[in-house]
Amino acid sequence: MKKTTIQWCHSTVNPVMGCDGCELWPGKGKIVAELATAIIAAGGGQCSTNIQKSISILIGDLETSQIYAKRTQLAEELGAKFSLNKPARAGLVDVIRKACKCYAGLLGTMRAWHKGHASQFEKPQLFPGRMAEAARWKSPTPHEVQAKPWLHGNPRMIFISDMGDALSDVVQFEYLKQEIIEAVDSIAGRDHLWLWLSKRPARMAEFGQWLLLQGVPWPDNLVAMTTVTSPATANRVAELRQVPSRFKGLSCEPVFAELKLNLTGIDWVIMGGGSDALAEPFHVEWALSLRDQCRQADAAFFLKQLGRNAMFDGQALNLVDQHGGDWTEWPADWRTREIPKPFRNLGTFTKPSGGAMQQSTMGGLLGSP
Ligand code: SF4
Repeated sequence: MKKTTIQWCHSTVNPVMGCDGCELWPGKGKIVAELATAIIAAGGGQCSTNIQKSISILIGDLETSQIYAKRTQLAEELGAKFSLNKPARAGLVDVIRKACKCYAGLLGTMRAWHKGHASQFEKPQLFPGRMAEAARWKSPTPHEVQAKPWLHGNPRMIFISDMGDALSDVVQFEYLKQEIIEAVDSIAGRDHLWLWLSKRPARMAEFGQWLLLQGVPWPDNLVAMTTVTSPATANRVAELRQVPSRFKGLSCEPVFAELKLNLTGIDWVIMGGGSDALAEPFHVEWALSLRDQCRQADAAFFLKQLGRNAMFDGQALNLVDQHGGDWTEWPADWRTREIPKPFRNLGTFTKPSGGAMQQSTMGGLLGSP
């Protein structure tokens, strides 16, 4: 079983490894533009167009993961070409590191040669059968419940796709139906609560409509979720509302600005600061504001972690836990890790397509420590 330290679930599963990118894993055009800006700032030239052309020639057909893997070598070569000093060359390395924030991309790049990973992060790879295997996992053990007491009383909560995005364009709906929907809606799968996170909620909605056309309703125990990282990606909330799921959730991590969201139809909001070494500041005031918005909208709020660069009242917080995820270090008022109440009952629920009540095999284990 794939256990995880992620605070808002018990386990993770990845029917697809890899992803075709997002704002946390940009295409090379954005990285080239940012490198050119840094080179100009370091006195390496003045014409951004010409500098970008030179960088593009050097990078050739490398994809983002390969640029990241070769960042030191590339910075040296660019440094030599534009006569940059040592600190400026180190600055180019940081430009690439800051652009590549997706931990799935970073981990996937490091493990590209390992069995069970995509050989290149930007080329999503299918791993059929993983969902069916996950469906056979048991209810949370006492040890798991003790480690995450805020999940107490819930069925096993399984995060789908923490190492890629299963809704990447190349993945066919037929595969998603066979791999994800059939496992989630199987007798064993109905014992669990599945949390499907994607930065492509419009495609998730399209998939939901495609299923309906085939007479397949969205399973109640499959929560549709998307990520919002700044006001620029807040449109994903409206797109998520189009998914024909019973429950919907947001993950706001990492987050780069205060969010003011329309939470109509949203059941759950998770928030957290970034955990990478170059994480942008996370102002706890943003979390308190979103928590209050959730209270207004009757949505559950879950503060996952404060991140590696947490600030409050304009001051950096000096936390022992590097990711700021140990809530015993927080003031009592910040410790909010709520789970929507209906999630507790999703281990014994009605099969949507059959009409008849299907008692889950988990039954009496619900809520047991
Ligand atoms: S896995 Fe998620 S965070 Fe990473 S590049 Fe894909 S969409 Fe972005």
